Amino acid sequence: MADLKTAPSIDIQKIRDQFPVLHQKVNGKPLAYFDNAATTQKPQSVINTLVDYYQGYNANIHRGIHTLAEKATKAYEESRKVIQRFINAAEGEEVIFTKGTTEGINLVTATYGRQNIHKGDEIILSGLEHHSNIVPWQIVAEEKGAIIKVIPVLEDGSLDMASYRNLLSDRTKIVAVNHASNSLGTVNPVKEIIELAHLAGARVVIDGAQASAHLDIDVQELDCDFYAISAHKVYGPTGTGALYGKRELLEAMPPYQGGGEMIKNVSFEKTTYNDIPHRFEAGTPNIADVIAFKSAVEFVSKQGKHAMAAYEHELLSYATERVGKIQDVRLIGTAREKVSVLSFVINDIHPFDIGQMLDARGVAVRTGHHCTEPLMNHFGIEGTVRASFAVYNTMEEIDSMVEGLERIVKFMK
Ligand code: PMP
Repeated sequence: MADLKTAPSIDIQKIRDQFPVLHQKVNGKPLAYFDNAATTQKPQSVINTLVDYYQGYNANIHRGIHTLAEKATKAYEESRKVIQRFINAAEGEEVIFTKGTTEGINLVTATYGRQNIHKGDEIILSGLEHHSNIVPWQIVAEEKGAIIKVIPVLEDGSLDMASYRNLLSDRTKIVAVNHASNSLGTVNPVKEIIELAHLAGARVVIDGAQASAHLDIDVQELDCDFYAISAHKVYGPTGTGALYGKRELLEAMPPYQGGGEMIKNVSFEKTTYNDIPHRFEAGTPNIADVIAFKSAVEFVSKQGKHAMAAYEHELLSYATERVGKIQDVRLIGTAREKVSVLSFVINDIHPFDIGQMLDARGVAVRTGHHCTEPLMNHFGIEGTVRASFAVYNTMEEIDSMVEGLERIVKFMK
């Protein structure tokens, strides 16, 4: 491979300076944080937004007429507009704030799913799915007597599209797949998946948890019916996210949870529900974090997602090359199109042991099944070691991980 240490087109040091948490030692060694697929670190701008809200204008939204309530409401609704642009939804009303991807998918299964899935209907998932895009569908399938079908995964970790075509039929009601796999990094051909599903008359739910920080998201271009993301995977706070849904679908859906804010009028005889998106945002939402979600998206826009993705790709190529050369390493997931996730196993050394030994060197990786047990079973393994890269990681950090892995292999032989 040609010069892998090519200079990035963005100033990594300047970016690193914006992340206070990175500047610490862990177990006496400089922290190398490679657990970004689990959650990304937060830039100072996101932290400042949280502090500013609690210090300056903490108030409940939508209902108040006093100054702080109006300021908080304005910031919350501005965030909706920013997220709308981030995923290129046609309207802000099509963006519902949630706790994250998990809640977004559960919202769809509990409302659209319960209303539209009937006995004998088929739901197509993929073998790459996170548990949060499996279990909610199992719940509704069990309740309704529907059948779950699974798109098989090929040896390189990509989806078997020929099998997908064969699974589709007029019984298919839903296709639910991720845009990018959290365990392997595989980027799925979601545009094609959506087109084929629509030809069969099915609706499509995309789990965008791993895509949002790395890939362009254009829900109109994709023509997906629903798209779920989590703020914390894209440099934002935990406990918030967004669900996109097409207006005509959201308007026809029954409410998700009952309570304040989701109603127009309540009486003991008859309650009328609010318009979208408020119909799906019962109760006091996670105001501070929703507002800080905007700052996270602005951080990404400022760096430029393409420049970030290009740099992350360099990190991935370099790490793949170096880790792949270590004795007895088996890379899991080698699809041509990947986000910056490197999963691997080393012979019969337990991933947990590798994770612990790397932690002793300040290198934070994730080990285990990554909430994708069916995928691990498919590869005949219990779990992997997963290093997932973000824009603030460096080649030197990868060198440190590789050095650690080489020592582990030597030590464990
Ligand atoms: N889907 C994928 C692909 C994920 O990686 C994750 C988070 N690991 C989720 C769904 C769930 O996201 P959250 O925990 O933020 O709801």
